[in-house]
Amino acid sequence: MMADPCSLEPMLSAEAALDRIVSAVQPVSGAERSALKHALGRVAAEPVRAPLPIPHYRNAAVDGYAFGSIEFERNRPVRLRVAGASWAGHPFRGRLNRGECIRIFTGAAVPDQADSVVMQEFAAADGDEIVLPAAVELRRFVREIGEDLQQGELLCGEGKKLTAADLGLLASAGVYDVAVKRPVNIAFFSTGDELIGIGQALSAGRIYDSNRYMLGSLLIDPCYRAADLGVIGDNREQLEAALKRAAQNHDVIITTGGASVGEADFIAEVLGRLGEIHLWKIAMKPGKPLAFGKIGKAFFFGLPGNPVAVAVTFRQMVEPALKRLAGQAPAHPLRIRAICTVPLKKEPGRLEFQRGVLTQNAQGEFFVAAGGGQGSHLLGAMARSNCYIVLPADCGGVRANEAVWVEPFGVAL
Ligand code: AMP
Ligand code: MG
Repeated sequence: MMADPCSLEPMLSAEAALDRIVSAVQPVSGAERSALKHALGRVAAEPVRAPLPIPHYRNAAVDGYAFGSIEFERNRPVRLRVAGASWAGHPFRGRLNRGECIRIFTGAAVPDQADSVVMQEFAAADGDEIVLPAAVELRRFVREIGEDLQQGELLCGEGKKLTAADLGLLASAGVYDVAVKRPVNIAFFSTGDELIGIGQALSAGRIYDSNRYMLGSLLIDPCYRAADLGVIGDNREQLEAALKRAAQNHDVIITTGGASVGEADFIAEVLGRLGEIHLWKIAMKPGKPLAFGKIGKAFFFGLPGNPVAVAVTFRQMVEPALKRLAGQAPAHPLRIRAICTVPLKKEPGRLEFQRGVLTQNAQGEFFVAAGGGQGSHLLGAMARSNCYIVLPADCGGVRANEAVWVEPFGVAL
């Protein structure tokens, strides 16, 4: 009897599987420089520090008049001569003498001799003078040097996926380009003799390949460069050739279909020949069968065939690994508590990701209901949903009005 080259392991908890996957992958080592305007969503490859303090000169926080608090020695109104004006981009060049103030606008430089700005509403203009009431607030509305960030302070850490605010912040410090991790190269394809591409005529026993369109969409990210390798039939030689070729120039290969235990003997044999690959049964629903390992230098993920199982295993098992490969700092997905308005059926034993519809009332409380049928082939129910209802392995069902954990996947409710 031939020894099975792939290990068919007993049920593995979802946490243990994720742990094994994430600890097997390391961030890609390459980095490149990216102009700031092209860096959105890329991962910083090194920390960026402020080359100058922000703001780098003292400036007014409001429109009004700048003056020295020294003018208010006694508790009585003060009359000041308006010696000039400081506009944003056009500072007052003179010196402020005793008894003087200047007209000033938001963002304009505050002269060294001034430590206070008063809002224009509180100043009574009188020719080229103003009168300020005794109760005027002193030492207010001046933005000090380095108030936002000190010179040398961290603008963004290594591993930060750059957001719009990050780019704004970097630009405010005059940073022109940033070192970013190179994109992760990913190849993906579907397997199955029944699959045909959209645009072709259906015939009995055939279905349209939906996984590739969903997977291709999930892989749209500036950190990834994904290649769609199409459909491979249930054919030993074709599968082996496709995997070998993809492994040559990709960091990751993702396939769907054929990973289930029913087909394990065929897939297991091919995978066993190509690399070190584990066929896991994960205590998770959907997404029980999952293959993970390496083919050459490429990490391999063999996802189940059913579309909902693809979405769930991608999010729970593949995405954390891709983020780590891309160099992103580790982060957990957002999970919140919500009141489940309907009873949910569940057998104890596996961690379940049921599809749900999350809503929020005017008081901000969260409610969730099932998004439809929970079969892992029911993509219609998945498309109507906006969250996973996460039910722990030992849970034996949910009564109406019980609180549950929910993982949103569409941010807007
Ligand atoms: P498998 O894991 O290959 O046994 O597939 C499990 C189920 O998922 C079967 O009903 C397949 O027809 C279906 N399936 C597999 N791949 C796809 C795909 N790319 N698009 C839609 N359904 C698929
Ligand atoms: Mg199949």
